[in-house]
Amino acid sequence: MTALSQVLRKIDADEVVELTRALVRIPSVYRPGDPAATEAQVAAFVESWLRREDFAVEVQPVAPGRPNVIGWLGERRPGARSLLLEGHTDVVTEGDSAEWSHLPFSADLVDDRIYGRGAADMKSGLAAAMVAAAAIKRAGVALRGKLVVGALVDEEDGMIGVRHLCTTPVGRELDAAIICEPEQNELCLEQRGVVWARFRVRGKMAHGAMPEAGVNPIAGLGRLLAAAPALERRLRRACERSRHLKPPTVTPTIIQGPPPKIGVPQSNVIPAVAETTFDIRLTPGVGPEEIRAELEAICRDVAQAQSGVKVEWEPVNAFRLATKVDRSEALVQAMVRGVKQATGRTPRYGGVPGSTDGTILRMELGIPIVTCGPGDRLIPHQVDEFVPVDQVVDAAKIYAASAMNYLEVE
Ligand SMILES: [Zn+2]
Repeated sequence: MTALSQVLRKIDADEVVELTRALVRIPSVYRPGDPAATEAQVAAFVESWLRREDFAVEVQPVAPGRPNVIGWLGERRPGARSLLLEGHTDVVTEGDSAEWSHLPFSADLVDDRIYGRGAADMKSGLAAAMVAAAAIKRAGVALRGKLVVGALVDEEDGMIGVRHLCTTPVGRELDAAIICEPEQNELCLEQRGVVWARFRVRGKMAHGAMPEAGVNPIAGLGRLLAAAPALERRLRRACERSRHLKPPTVTPTIIQGPPPKIGVPQSNVIPAVAETTFDIRLTPGVGPEEIRAELEAICRDVAQAQSGVKVEWEPVNAFRLATKVDRSEALVQAMVRGVKQATGRTPRYGGVPGSTDGTILRMELGIPIVTCGPGDRLIPHQVDEFVPVDQVVDAAKIYAASAMNYLEVE
């Protein structure tokens, strides 16, 4: 029997399902200010599971109650590679439990689907990664390279978990990563980027009955909003067209005049300051300088159109640009083979609509990433989130086969 078939036989469907359900049953919504609402409990569960399976384990304290758990098999010897199977332990809020037909943290198994917050995004992907790596070990297969399983915190917010990982030795030596996010097990080589730009228009405060005494920043805000569609058209021309990604979008999401930290809105007061935020989604092909130049040009145009206003912008957080990995990358080749070996099917390609921890790994470490995991791409963050059992089991097999191809068996 080949090493691969020995490993695939060690992947037990019931085990993957029960591990997913166990992870879903541990709520891990992060709620700032509530010390009990963190990833701590699910991280501790993952840690003890990996220790029981005899992985080398590193717990990285990222923030209070928010540890990354990193487990690995083997070492990255000279000439060998290090591959990360990446998952995150946080989930988004369940919202109103009354709207769910299966309670969000009960992990009900009905008609070969596991229901619950995080079932797809992404405790099933994490469980599949854990079982895949454990199966390699249980089959007694030694890899030439190092296989790392990462259960990271805070993917749904500032991505502090993956940012931290990139600064640590185990992170810095990574050669590639599989992001186990719900993409219905398609191989996603591209993902959209996101830039949140906050514009601030400064005018001069005055009485609403005497507008001539002031400079109204709301008018400038209106011009900014009116400029959004043209910006979207320019970005669509500048970015690459992709078969797998929706084209760039520019969506104003917040308007405030005055912002709460500066004043209280009053019907008879022209505020001194007004702000708006654009949620800008990108496809590959545009760099940070081009984005900055576009946003600065808009600020200049709006300031020129109204005397007395000052217009500036700032990024709400660090740019997360679109990513793209070439089909000729060794990781992609290993996964194309892996999907065939694990499922008997030729892989389907797809694209990731939003940004993930993979965005940070690609930007910070420059390594190739492929996003591939169980669950419908559109189901995350919805009520009655679920994952089909067969996709979770397939994912575990795909991860095991791909890791063996990429890291090579001794
Ligand atoms: Zn996710």
